[in-house]
Amino acid sequence: MNTLVLNASYEPLAVVPVRRAVILVLTEKAVMEHADSGKLIRSATRELPTPLVVRLLRFVRVPYRRKVPWSRSGVLDRDGRRCAYCGGRASSIDHLVPTSRGGASRSWRNTVASCVACNQAKADRTPAEAGMRLLVQPYEPKAHRALVLALGVPTSEALPDWLAAAVT
Ligand SMILES: [Zn+2]
Repeated sequence: MNTLVLNASYEPLAVVPVRRAVILVLTEKAVMEHADSGKLIRSATRELPTPLVVRLLRFVRVPYRRKVPWSRSGVLDRDGRRCAYCGGRASSIDHLVPTSRGGASRSWRNTVASCVACNQAKADRTPAEAGMRLLVQPYEPKAHRALVLALGVPTSEALPDWLAAAVT
């Protein structure tokens, strides 16, 4: 069974297991807004009605547009460890506009996963100059999780970092 968690401003934030909602109430991080008094939950010291909706006492800023920091392994993961030029196994990162020619070195949109052979064949050129076509377009990954949570989709036991930081 799950409980809806509201922000201090009454906006829905997340759906969490009842057990976790009870802990929020017992530790005075949240108050009950709606409860099922027909079903009591016993803690070591108290008896509580089952919380259906609880509201945090402290306002939580939801990072809807959290940016994912660039990393080499992040680019490899994003592209499924496949070379953006030949589809083979990628073990290196290629800069579309080479850094030696002013291309951004730590940019999601200027980097793709690449195999060593394609990377060396392309060398100090853009894909167009090298006559190499991209099988995939590079993009900036987004942290969707916070938004999904804000819409009230049930979560696993683990709380997202930003919510855990606010309530623990
Ligand atoms: Zn390749």
